[in-house]
Amino acid sequence: MKLFYFTASSKDAQKHLQDTIQNKFRIGQYRFLLPEDVFRQLQIVNAHEEVNMWGALPGPANIRNWNKIEKGDRVLIYSQGKFVYYGMVLAKVHSPEIAEIAWGKDIKGETWEYIYFLYNLQEIDIDVVEFARFFGYRTNFIPQGFSFIREEIVTKCMNEFGGIDQAISFLTNSTLKATMGTFNNIVEQHGERELESSIMEMDDDQFVNYINSLDSNASIEVKEGLRKIRKYNKKIIDELKERYNHRCQICGRSSLNEYGVSVVEGHHIEPFSLTQNNSPDNIMILCPTHHRLIHKAKGEFDRKKKEIHYANGYSEKLLLNEHL
Ligand SMILES: [Zn+2]
Ligand SMILES: [Zn+2]
Repeated sequence: MKLFYFTASSKDAQKHLQDTIQNKFRIGQYRFLLPEDVFRQLQIVNAHEEVNMWGALPGPANIRNWNKIEKGDRVLIYSQGKFVYYGMVLAKVHSPEIAEIAWGKDIKGETWEYIYFLYNLQEIDIDVVEFARFFGYRTNFIPQGFSFIREEIVTKCMNEFGGIDQAISFLTNSTLKATMGTFNNIVEQHGERELESSIMEMDDDQFVNYINSLDSNASIEVKEGLRKIRKYNKKIIDELKERYNHRCQICGRSSLNEYGVSVVEGHHIEPFSLTQNNSPDNIMILCPTHHRLIHKAKGEFDRKKKEIHYANGYSEKLLLNEHL
């Protein structure tokens, strides 16, 4: 199963959103334009009279992506800073005739002829920044045109949430948003480093208690979702600690030999939050001193030079680095 998204930002696309996503297209009248197998697919779910649909203009990238679309794939619809609809692909058809009836032509005389029919469309509300963090994109990510989410990211969601549908419903959950709002305030008040470290060191029960203390109204789904994200995050940090033999990536020190215990911590390069970008390339393994310094002296990581630049102008190269 693949997860596609398309953007509806242009004036044309806004109109199409209204015509065939917010409202359904009366496909029944144009049955003669549909191949028999497509018609039957629509009929199975009673969408052969009226159906939600979208189409892409002809163009190499659009055609390539359209060719990849299969029945059962999921689609996210993006418009003006948010993902606003989520649905399932029912069938697809290449039909300039249907496209022209539904949406007309653009100024170049082209039409949105690479059509797919959507089923079970639901309104969602996922901010693009939240989306980018969750799916491991850079936070300045802006969805463009018609594309799909990388397969390994989809697999990650399946593993952690039991499915893409669950992950999307988690992200669109309004109590989650309230909890995250509270959480972000607390992070600001307490200082990021202390919280980042302590949250990662808590056990599961302590963590659930912690979420309760932030927001006693948080729903079971929210708590469960946050618990899964944290667990996943912890797993990644633990693997990285092993990989660096419990040494700090800046100074190379480890307490393991002399003291028999490890105190290195995972630092998030992009600010820590619970729905954080928790892919390894956002995490650095540091000793407590360097972890504290990087927050307090406002160290910025320069990915090209593999250096930390502190606010006072001092910089320091990573001594150990295999993954950034
Ligand atoms: Zn260090
Ligand atoms: Zn940190």
